[in-house]
Amino acid sequence: YMEMYMNMIKGMNLENYHLFVFRDRTEEEQADQLKNEFVSIVSHELRTPLASILGFVEILLHREVKPEKAKKYMETIHREANRLSNLISDFLDLQRMESGKQNYTLVPFDMNPIIQNVAKQWDNKQGYTIGIDVPEGVCLVRADSDRITQIMHNLISNAIKYSPGQERVDIRLMDGDTHWIAAVQDYGLGIPEESKPHMFGKFYRVDNSDRRQIGGTGLGLAIVKEIVEDLGGEVYFDSILGKGSTFYVKLPKFHLRTLDNKIVVIED
Ligand code: ADP
Repeated sequence: YMEMYMNMIKGMNLENYHLFVFRDRTEEEQADQLKNEFVSIVSHELRTPLASILGFVEILLHREVKPEKAKKYMETIHREANRLSNLISDFLDLQRMESGKQNYTLVPFDMNPIIQNVAKQWDNKQGYTIGIDVPEGVCLVRADSDRITQIMHNLISNAIKYSPGQERVDIRLMDGDTHWIAAVQDYGLGIPEESKPHMFGKFYRVDNSDRRQIGGTGLGLAIVKEIVEDLGGEVYFDSILGKGSTFYVKLPKFHLRTLDNKIVVIED
């Protein structure tokens, strides 16, 4: 562009003086986009819980309220304040990842105990049994084990949240030849066809009557996708409305080789 403009100027008869300013707009455009995103979040996502908090605080401050009613109001305030806090920390997490400022600790580790530990933490909670099916032996990946744990928690908590009335979630770790594939399966609400292309979008929530009462930020799956892709993997799902969903996280295998029972050669 610069060259094109310089040629244009050369050919001009500059009777009046013009000031031409050339600059790279990419960074500014990115900053603008962030600002716009933030403005839209503040106006839509933060205002609703805040309005509800303010409303109930006003009542508690200025009206006589019976103790049992006051307790109900305070519970709502507590719930909405928690929602705000989760929303802000999820949003900041995602922002950090998107801007490439998230640091990952990449080390080889076995997926097997990680998956089993996460599953154990959810087993027998909220009336759910977590079924586990993992291969024998080690399932090595080179990734960030804290982030993988975070992803698994996210997917299991969704599986439970979106299968009200069910009692079971199944977790599998499968050998996908070049990859290890972790699957989280539920037998719950499932995902409508028209929502499928949007599932990993920021703030996207399925707006069906079957789940309007279920709270969330619409950022959980966006965070999962960002992390998995940063770690060189893939995330996808199968789902049938009314039958259930399975989310898959696919990570490249990592190979270790031992020589003479002593030396370990790491192949990247
Ligand atoms: P949140 O749960 O906070 O709304 P997510 O990004 O985790 O946000 O999920 C986005 C939407 O996808 C949810 O609103 C929900 O309707 C749908 N969803 C996610 N996981 C499941 C699941 N296991 N079964 C059915 N629907 C799901």
